[in-house]
Amino acid sequence: MLVDLDRITATEGADIKDKSSVSVLDSIRERARDLAQNVFAPRAASIDTAEIYPWENCFALRDAGFMGMTIPKTYGGQGLGYREAVVLVEEVSKACGVTGRIAVEANMGAVGAIMAYGSEKQKKLAADLVLDGDKPAICITEPESGSAARDMTTRADKVGDGYVINGKKHWITGGGVSRLHLIFAQVFENDQPQGIAGFIVVRGEPGSEGLSAGKREPTMGLRGIPETEIYLHDLHVPSDMMLQPPSGIKKGFGDLMTAYNGQRVGAAAVALGLAVGAYDQAEAFIQKREQFGRPICEFQGLQWMLADMSVQISAARALINDAVSGTGFPDKMKAAQAKLFTSEMAVNVTNNALQMHGAAGYSRNNPVERMVRDARMFTIGGGTAQVLRNVIASDLLGRKFPQTRDGYLSYPASQSPVDNIREKIK
Ligand SMILES: Cc1cc2nc3c(=O)[nH]c(=O)nc-3n(C[C@H](O)[C@H](O)[C@H](O)COP(=O)(O)OP(=O)(O)OC[C@H]3O[C@@H](n4cnc5c(N)ncnc54)[C@H](O)[C@@H]3O)c2cc1C
Repeated sequence: MLVDLDRITATEGADIKDKSSVSVLDSIRERARDLAQNVFAPRAASIDTAEIYPWENCFALRDAGFMGMTIPKTYGGQGLGYREAVVLVEEVSKACGVTGRIAVEANMGAVGAIMAYGSEKQKKLAADLVLDGDKPAICITEPESGSAARDMTTRADKVGDGYVINGKKHWITGGGVSRLHLIFAQVFENDQPQGIAGFIVVRGEPGSEGLSAGKREPTMGLRGIPETEIYLHDLHVPSDMMLQPPSGIKKGFGDLMTAYNGQRVGAAAVALGLAVGAYDQAEAFIQKREQFGRPICEFQGLQWMLADMSVQISAARALINDAVSGTGFPDKMKAAQAKLFTSEMAVNVTNNALQMHGAAGYSRNNPVERMVRDARMFTIGGGTAQVLRNVIASDLLGRKFPQTRDGYLSYPASQSPVDNIREKIK
């Protein structure tokens, strides 16, 4: 039973020695499981079919204290960490991937960045919105810059005591429903590039008229949450709504990406929840379904599939727990490993769970069919599996590998591997 594995991880995990934090984790797991199974699971199919944002689930999360629980107590949150957040996200995602993603964005991602780097005013603003049930939107990707995020062309020009932002974002989760937006843009002063910074904008507030949501993507899965374009047209943002990372604007993109490690582990926790949800369905089904006059769980072919699935799930959970075992943002390498392994694991496990159901799994009446579609996203959004492998290899080798075609050519000739290769060819 995977349920028992969950408990073992929560109470006997290597880094969890403090008894009081164990009971907090257990309590979060129990309360989240109760809410997920009794409230979110019965709604998950209709959210998927109707493709409607589940406001009622946001408010249920809020009323349970699960929106903004990582926000410090000073700003009205509970001051909990990512260790607690991933427990919540896994439980919720077992029942409903869409609501799991809302739980991520209400506790990690933009909220995490603002709580770490923001001014008092910015933190208070973000806390008030999230604690009220808003899921913030993080706006990095553009039509022509996905994996190459630094190539974004959205620009924020310094004008008087503020910035004017122009550009277009794409694939923004929560476009048209979120109020709090963290918008990444290239900053210019007197037309000179300064680096990439984040800007906090609240949709619907006076002054935010330059921000609007565009076309919604018809997505394969996770259909209850809109993925839209965001248009930024002469959007005026006062200077005090620029998020100042510790390294300043020039090198601040690195700090903002460090905050994004939290979001990556959160995405991994959604994928884990979906895999566990599908596993639970498969485990129950093969004990009930009979063929050749016996329950199909008596066939070794299916037993081995189930065994492999359980091992993969436990390995993914261990990587996630390792990534969140410290304080502050998860380590870049650990976050990349957790997201890479868990996202690919979830694609495999949900797919195998469907296979074990035979035709019954292929029906849209079966939650496993939805889980397969929902899980597919996680090897793409928030850093593709290929890009995460680049991150991991770079960390292992202790070197940067520029991905642009001319990356090495800007090195002094004596250090350029390209030149060395040319030497060898000669
Ligand atoms: C459901 C969903 C939700 C999303 N939500 C958000 C959001 O809220 N905010 C936001 O800003 N973005 C969001 N995104 C965007 C997401 O982060 C990007 O899709 C992702 O970064 C990849 O960019 P891309 O889709 O443009 O793919 P591309 O970068 O065009 O990549 C295409 C293919 O090339 C591969 N590739 C690219 N570069 C390399 C390389 N150097 N080495 C090896 N392979 C490479 C990729 O792995 C991929 O297989 C979301 C995406 C999805 C699907």
